[in-house]
Amino acid sequence: MNSNAVIAIHGGAGTILRASMSSGAEAEYHAALHAVLSAGQRILADGGSALDAVSEAVRLLEDCPLFNAGRGAVYTAAGTHELDAAIMDGGTLEAGAICCVKRVRNPILAARRVLESSEHVLFTGEGAEAFAAAHGLEFVEPGYFHTEARHHQWLLARDRQRAMLDHDGATLAGASSTNDDDPAPHEPIDPNRKFGTVGAVALDRHGHVAAATSTGGVTNKQVGRVGDTPLIGAGCYADDATCAVSTTGSGEMFMRMVAAYDVAAQMAYRQVSLEEAAHDVVMNRLPRIDGRGGLIAVDARGNVTLPFNTEGMYRGFARPGETPVTAIYR
Ligand code: ASP
Repeated sequence: MNSNAVIAIHGGAGTILRASMSSGAEAEYHAALHAVLSAGQRILADGGSALDAVSEAVRLLEDCPLFNAGRGAVYTAAGTHELDAAIMDGGTLEAGAICCVKRVRNPILAARRVLESSEHVLFTGEGAEAFAAAHGLEFVEPGYFHTEARHHQWLLARDRQRAMLDHDGATLAGASSTNDDDPAPHEPIDPNRKFGTVGAVALDRHGHVAAATSTGGVTNKQVGRVGDTPLIGAGCYADDATCAVSTTGSGEMFMRMVAAYDVAAQMAYRQVSLEEAAHDVVMNRLPRIDGRGGLIAVDARGNVTLPFNTEGMYRGFARPGETPVTAIYR
C-alpha cells in the first residue's frame, strides 16, 4: 500500500485582474476548489483508484459554472459550445478522449467510457456523440452550457477583436470590468486572458497515477478547432513509471511542445525529478514559442508540482487526512 496518495486539480491559468477582484469571488473559487478536492480525497482515502478520483474531480469541475468546461464552457465564433476531454490511466497506459461534442453533459465521462469500452482512443464530433449515446451517457440541450458571463465574454471578444490587438489586455479588461452591464465584473483572473480548462491528477494507495483534462477551449475559437486538452501527450498524460500530467494554457503551443508527455519523457530520459521536468516545460520550453499557461503533475512517490507562467492558476491539492490546499495567485 502506498501511503503517499494525493490528488491535485486545476481550474485554468491566466492573467490576474486584481482591480476587478472581489474577496467574495475569490472565496467562491477557493470553496469550489476545496469541495472538489475533498471529494477526490475521500475516494483515495477509501482505497479508490486514481482513475476514479480524477474522473470524479473533473466531473464536478465540469458541473461548476465557474470553470470553462461542461456548464460554463466558453463560446465558439459561431456562438456555440464545443467540448473536449481526455483521461489516462498510468497503470495500464489506457486512454480515452472525445472532442467537439455539443450535447454531452459530462465530456470526461464520455472520455472515460472510451477508455473502458473502445479499441479506439479519440472520437470527434458526431461520432463521439453517437458513441456517448450508445453507452447511455447523459445528453443536454446546448443551452445547458450557457452562462451569462461566458456569453458576455464572447461578445466582447467577437466585437473587440481588432481593438484587442491595439490595446493591452489590462486596458481592455479594465474597460469591460467597470462596465455596469458586465455580469461577471469580479472574476479574479482577467477573463480576456484566461485559460479556464479544468484538470486533475492523482496517485492512489495502490501506487497508480491517472490524469484527466476537460475544456470548452478558447473563447471565440473557430468551429472545429481542437486544442491540446483531448490530445494524449499534449494536454493529458499518465504513466506509473514517471508521472501524471494535466495542462491548461494556449493549446496550440502545448500541442507543438507535446507538453504533458515532455514532463514524463524528461523524467524517463534525463532522470530529473518531477519538479525539475515540469519547471523546464513550463518556464523554459513553452515560453520559447510564447506558450502561456501551466500544468499540474504527480509522480508515483506522491510528489506534486503545480507550475504556471501566467500570473495565476486556480489550483489545489489534497492528501487523505490533511486539509486541502487551494490557491489562485502566485
Ligand atoms: N488548453 C485549452 C485549449 O487550448 C484552453 C485552456 O487551457 O483553457 O483548448
